Amino acid sequence: MNNGKKIHNFSAGPSILSEYALEKSIQDIQNFAGTGLSVLEVSHRSKPFVEVVDQAQALVKQLLGLSDDYDVLFLQGGASTQFFQVPQNFLQSKAVYLNTGTWSKKAIKEAKGFGSVVVTASSEESNFNYIPKEYHIDDDADYFHCTSNNTIFGTQMKSFPDTSVPMICDMSSDIFSKKLDFSKFHMIYAGAQKNMGPAGVTLVVIRKDMYDRVADRHIPSMLGYKLHAENGSMFNTPPVFPILVSKYNMEWVLNNGGVAGMEERNSAKANLLYNAIDHSPYFVGTAERESRSHMNACFVFKSEFENLAEKFDAACKEANISGLKGHRSVGGYRASLYNALPLESVQALVDIIENFNK
Ligand SMILES: *Cc1c(COP(=O)(O)O)cnc(C)c1O
Repeated sequence: MNNGKKIHNFSAGPSILSEYALEKSIQDIQNFAGTGLSVLEVSHRSKPFVEVVDQAQALVKQLLGLSDDYDVLFLQGGASTQFFQVPQNFLQSKAVYLNTGTWSKKAIKEAKGFGSVVVTASSEESNFNYIPKEYHIDDDADYFHCTSNNTIFGTQMKSFPDTSVPMICDMSSDIFSKKLDFSKFHMIYAGAQKNMGPAGVTLVVIRKDMYDRVADRHIPSMLGYKLHAENGSMFNTPPVFPILVSKYNMEWVLNNGGVAGMEERNSAKANLLYNAIDHSPYFVGTAERESRSHMNACFVFKSEFENLAEKFDAACKEANISGLKGHRSVGGYRASLYNALPLESVQALVDIIENFNK
């Protein structure tokens, strides 16, 4: 959304949303569902807002192809709260974690407060530039935890293990971005602000039989999943506006081919950009090819060309490219290619990379 000037928004998060979601949300700020009131000033228990939550929950299940064996919750505290809420609920004795980046590491750190944590594999020794392939999951573990897309390092899991242990995945930065057998997971969580909606709501999708696995310890009401589910995600005041915007953004995903449509869009964007990087004499991708993320593409100047950075940055600025700066732990550039980013924005960036070759 802007005042006429087309900005290419590559921000890693909070990040680009569909124009559709923004326009619909603006209408509801002014007059929500014909109530004559702003959505910001009505009760979360009012009929039209309860309908929004019901629709948003149904959209999540529809997009992910999940049955009524799952509950959909809209919680607060960000994905970072899930880092401790998951082990607090489900870590009785031992959990297995895959360490693929900064967010995995944070999840591991929090879990250690509740029980024994086995880090089955890690790519930390090479600054997380790949996803480990071979690893073992003890079948007496309470759960296996992984991060599907490593937002900071630009790597993405292309396959998930077959395991008898409940699989819990942090999908904050690639939820709704591609087809997947989501029923493989017992629980999925995502901070909305990467690929789902605005900051302020966390999506939790949980298989109902997980409630039987809750650890035998005191769990504060607000941190119990079942209680939220039993209350239709309205145990307390939910993040009303972020849920609304997320609902519209999910509608947009559905109207544009669902996750299959997004996968096609996202592959086209990622292939265009990685191809340009691979053919450039100046740049190099930081992630190993087979682990490359279709959501966050990280690249740097080859060391002998670092002096060109200023020129490149100026060209990006001139082309209204925004949010391209890499995370400090990788440096260089990170182009986030979330669902709502159009191909033309990637083309604008690719034009600059290719112009550099001339
Ligand atoms: C951004 C991010 C987080 C942290 O999310 P918050 O909502 O800020 O707590 C966790 N995991 C992944 C993969 C992320 O990209």
